[in-house]
This record gives sequence, C-alpha cells and structure tokens, in this order.
Amino acid sequence: MATRNLIATTLLVASSVSIAFDPDELTDNNDGRNWLAYGRTHSEQRYSPLKEISAENVDRLGLAWSMELPGETHLVSTPLVVDGILFFAGSYSKVWAVDTRTQKVKWTLDPETIKHAGDKLRILWGTSRGLAYWNGKIYAATGDGRLIAIDAESGEEVWTQMTVDPDSPFYITGAPRAFNGKVIIGNGGAELGPVRGYVTAYDAETGEQMWRWWTVPGNPADGFENNAMKYAATTWKGKWWKHGGGGTVWNAMTYDPDFNHIYLGTGNGTPWNQRIRSPGGGDNLFLCAIVALDADTGNYKWHYQTVPGETWDFNSAMDIVLADINVHGRDLKVLMHAPKNGFFYIINRSNGKLLSARPFAKITWATEVDMKTGRPIEVKGARYPDGEVTIWPGPLGAHNWQPMSYNPGTGLVYLPYHDLSGYYNDSKIIPAEWEHTALQFDVGVAGYQDDFPVEGATSGLMGWDPITQTPTWTSVNPGMWNAGTMTTAGNLVFQGHADGMFKAYRGDNGDILWSFDAKHGLSASPVTFETDGEQYIAMLAGWGGGVAALGGSMGAQHGWMYGVHPRRLLVFALDGEAKLPTTPPPRMAKVLAAPEFKLDHEQAIAGGLVWEKNCTWCHGPGVVASGGAPDLRASAITLELDTLKSIVLDGALRDRGMPWFPHLNMDDVKAVQHFIRKKALASMENGVGNK
Ligand code: CA
Repeated sequence: MATRNLIATTLLVASSVSIAFDPDELTDNNDGRNWLAYGRTHSEQRYSPLKEISAENVDRLGLAWSMELPGETHLVSTPLVVDGILFFAGSYSKVWAVDTRTQKVKWTLDPETIKHAGDKLRILWGTSRGLAYWNGKIYAATGDGRLIAIDAESGEEVWTQMTVDPDSPFYITGAPRAFNGKVIIGNGGAELGPVRGYVTAYDAETGEQMWRWWTVPGNPADGFENNAMKYAATTWKGKWWKHGGGGTVWNAMTYDPDFNHIYLGTGNGTPWNQRIRSPGGGDNLFLCAIVALDADTGNYKWHYQTVPGETWDFNSAMDIVLADINVHGRDLKVLMHAPKNGFFYIINRSNGKLLSARPFAKITWATEVDMKTGRPIEVKGARYPDGEVTIWPGPLGAHNWQPMSYNPGTGLVYLPYHDLSGYYNDSKIIPAEWEHTALQFDVGVAGYQDDFPVEGATSGLMGWDPITQTPTWTSVNPGMWNAGTMTTAGNLVFQGHADGMFKAYRGDNGDILWSFDAKHGLSASPVTFETDGEQYIAMLAGWGGGVAALGGSMGAQHGWMYGVHPRRLLVFALDGEAKLPTTPPPRMAKVLAAPEFKLDHEQAIAGGLVWEKNCTWCHGPGVVASGGAPDLRASAITLELDTLKSIVLDGALRDRGMPWFPHLNMDDVKAVQHFIRKKALASMENGVGNK
C-alpha cells in the first residue's frame, strides 16, 4: 500500500492538475468510485463493485437529472468519470467535461473534425466510442485521425499528434487506451481504399511516438519491419500489398497488467473478397485475430486467428475482456472474446492457447472450432465459390462493437448479440481486374444498394456462462442494434435498447427489474460511479453507429429521425424524481410523392451504382436513412437538380457535415436523382415510409 501511495504522490507532483491519479485504480476491481477507462478498468469487464443500487431496490431508481446536448448527433460513447467529473466524446469527437456535482458543463473542446476532415468527411459518421484518462489528462481521437491530449482540469489542449496519413482512407471511431504512461490508438478504413492496419503507442506526457505495430505485411521488396511480418507474409498470395490487406484495429485494444501485454483485435481484409486480396487463399495473418504484443516495446508475443483467410468482413475487433476463471478444472488467466463470427472464445492469456470456443448465435459458415488445430471447420460453399451465398452471421456480425460485460460475482458475461444473415455476391467481379476507388465504399463483393428489411434480424441479451460456454439466460431485445452492457455487484446488468428503453436486469437470472423510457434510441453503454457517498448511473441518449447510418429499414423502424430528437446526458440515482423535457415521439420519413417527376429507369439503374459507392454510407441502403443523415426519399431538395448539384458537386453544405463529391459529374447527379425517386416510389407502393 505504501508503494501505491508513493506512485500516486509522485505523479500528482508531476501533474499540473488537481484531479488525483492512482494508476493502481485501473487494476482494482474493489474501488468503484471512478470509471477511469473505456471498460472501467484495464480488464474491460465493465464491472463495478458498487452495490448501493441493487436487485433488491432498483425499482426505486429514477432520473436524478439530465442535460440537453445541442449540436450532438451520433452518440455511442462510454463516458469516463474521475472524481465526479464526467467526460465523454460527443459527435465528431467534441469532448465534454460535466461536473456531476453542479450538473453543469465544466468545459468542452471542439477539435473541429468536420473542418479538418476534408474529403474524408465522406466516410465519417461522426461517431466516437470513448476517451482515455491518464495522470490528469484526457485523450481523445478524432475522426480525421488526430490524437489529442487535454488537461482534464482546464480543458486546454496539451499536445496533438496526427496518427494517420491525412490523404489515406483511415479514420478513427475507437477509444484510445492508456497504460504505463503510454496511450495507444488504432484506426479504421478497411472498406474505403487500400489500407494496411496498424496501432501506434505515444508517450502520454509528451505525445512522442513510442512504437508502431503493423497488423499485416507490406510489400516484401520494402523489407519487413519485424519477424512477425516476415512470417505473416508467408500466409499471403499474389500482390496483396497493392490492396493494403486491411486488418485495421478499429475497436478492441486491452492492456493486461498480469503479463504486460496489449491485446489487439484485428479487422477484416481489404477488400473483403479474398479471391481479390490474396488469390489462391492462405490464412492472411494477422487479419481477424487477437494479437498479443509486449506493452512496452510493441514486440509480437503470440496470436490467435479466429477466421483464417477472412472473406466475409468478419473481424476480431469486438471487445477483449480479461478474467480469472476455472477452465477444465484449472484456475487460469483468460481472455474472453465474442467476435462477429458467432463463436465465444476463451483463450489462455499467457500463451494464446485456445481453451474453448462455442457458438453463441446462429452460425452457418462453420460447424465448430477444431480444438486440436484451433481452426474453424468451414461449411462447403461458404466462401461463395459459385458467385453467391447467404450465411449467418453477415457483415454486421453476431456481435459488434457494443461491449459485453463480465460479473465475477455471478460468473456470467452479459453479451448483446444479434442474428442476421449476410448475402455475398461476386459473380459480376473479375478478381484480377478489380481496382480500389479511394474514399468510396467498395469491398470486392456486392454491397449495399438495397434496403435491409425489418424482418429477418433478431437480437437479445444473454447471460453467458464462460465455464460451460452456454447461456444461463436470454432476453429478447427490440430490432437488432442495441447498446453495450454494464454490470454491478448489486446483481444487476444495465442495457439501453434501440427503441429507447433503458433496462436493468437481474444478473443471475435475467429478470427485467426496472425500465426507463429515454425517448431516443440508445446506442451508448452506461457507466456507474460514486460521488459524495451516493451511487449514480449515467448514459448518453442518442442513436448512433453503423445501423444508424446504413441499416436501412432495419434501423429506421424505431423512428429516430435525423435532426428531430434531442440528444441528452442522463444521470440516475435511487429515488431520483427528475422528468425528461418534452420530446417528440418516434417518427417515420414522409416520402414525397412528386408526381411531376418523370422517372427514367435506365438512369435509376446507373444511379444505384453511384449510390452504393458514395451515398449508402450515410443516407442508407435503398435510400432508407436510419437516423444518421436525412432520408432523401422525403427531401424536396433532391427534386431540384441545380440545388442537388451545388450540394453534391460544389459542396454547398460542407460546413454542416455534408461532404462533396467532386469526382462525380452531372450525369452521376442526375442518375442518383432518378435512383432516389425510384426508391421513393417503390416505398410508397409498399406502403412504408409515409405514415
Ligand atoms: Ca469491416
């Protein structure tokens, strides 16, 4: 204990701020006052030992206060709480510090991401999943690729590093992590051009780059950065480096103090289609894998690849949770991981050895994981060898970035899952001739031109037993895009839902004990903290993320229309009696009839191709927007060709976050206009969208 206090004191003296910092608190599950890291502690368990609010009294939980967040759009961020100051990343990485004692904004820092992003605006949804904290500083990553250190007390910028090539398709939505005086960040962009994934660690105090680790090998002619890359190159074929390879670390990075490891969850291939990326196959290391690195040097330690030769947009970017559990009769330090592919993995943290892998959702691409080889046994035809296939899960996965949580008391993992198929078709693509179009969505297999129907996707929350690898309980969720979870020593699990309901479940059996209508789709994970002896629960209310952008009707069904519903910070406590301000009810897009518009079907077909690559990303497949951007079936502006041109080609709305597309021409704009009208008429005929 003496050593621990000494470290805290030394760091306090070195720091210019008054918020105390004890790095040991990041490993201590018994101290629940703060929420210091993305997953609360390094373990990413999202478990709090607080139990003032418990299964016995949670029916008394109520809104203590709320704060309106004007200007915010996508909210998916897990807040941090340090000594009663709550920090969160808003849309376009605007950082907010809110004093939970005074219920007032302490400071905000707007990194002006829209201005910095330039053409990269085309690929940003404005989402930011979280922040890091270390020794008096908050670390925020911006959509355009900057990592910013901010004085937590004053809100002043301390240093900024550009972590990506500004002209590359890289963007950042993920939360940085801080450990050992370092801060680490990855990036995304594997759908949007030739990218080669990497992470970079910086000195937390100075911003100096400490190390960088690439996830896939580059061109052998340039030499390999390390032996891991040299080895990885033996698992690729053709001229993979032309396509970048992918493997971006866009979400999961977990620091393990027991072994001084950093675990990276690597992404899918670029492009998705392996016949293009690595003709002739191969495992394509280190795509879709967990890689352990030495946290001080960034040197490779071990890896476990969940999907060798990835070809479906499967990735291992889902959270990596540390735990000490008894597996096969032995007490082991393990990591738990439920990636897109639908298997729940238990892996020995000391050596990367697979201990167990069992399906947690509907899986048709593989039957099981062979425990001898650690490899999935694939179903014949899953790699669309004849041009097309429908498999479960699809590109949205059986689990996505919405974090699971682990409660050492109940022994259960609280896992938000969904069952949704994916359709893959490359019958019109000639692999050898396929080329990237930078900053356009193109993955080498048929993409997102048509709507996602409401039917066919289901979801739920599971209390998953990692020892038996079976669900102890399952509770059905609305739609398919629900938030991540948080669990407490009060035998509780909290989760926000797509329909706006915030619920508390009994941890051991899944009974729904409490709910609150937040009047907005919930996509962000809740946190809990203690200030002046009282336990609070906080979360951001604001629909966001992939399905809020390109979910089509699957996301639109909940009625969270762009610009209609206010975004808020909600704080709950026992006997809270605050009321939410008046809020508009859910609303569907009112599709314009426009009988005067003469639809040209040839133009509409051409427009569909332009739409898929340029517009789907925000305005949705099949021209059905899910709340992240305006629904263009309802837009009168799209009927006026000159106005449409000024926005799309000349960038008239760039200041407001609508990018420009100067590589398109007037024929493209006209074609898109016809595609929009075709889809508008089709949805009116189907009786949707005009309620
Ligand atoms: Ca992806």
